[in-house]
Amino acid sequence: MGTIEEHIGSSIRRTGNSHRALHEWLDGKDLSYGEMLSRHAPSNVQKFLPLVRKKFGKEGAGEYLRHLHEDYEHGFLLRAVMKMEKLWLWCLHDKIII
Ligand SMILES: [Zn+2]
Repeated sequence: MGTIEEHIGSSIRRTGNSHRALHEWLDGKDLSYGEMLSRHAPSNVQKFLPLVRKKFGKEGAGEYLRHLHEDYEHGFLLRAVMKMEKLWLWCLHDKIII
């Protein structure tokens, strides 16, 4: 997964605009892990695209898709799944103890 600064760098190279608010909306420190995953899920793109366009403009909507593209290219999904598996193992372990 690219860092916010990396995403900002590519937005500036592409558009001349940092689109910081958009990248913070996707990866900001205040988001829960669930919110972050949900905003990156390909199955949610249709749901979020109108909202993103309204919040961040037409160019921002394009940068939203490119942000997802960059994250998936860098193995975002793989790492997310591995984290979920760790969580699942932890839950299983917890149940066995109880
Ligand atoms: Zn991201």
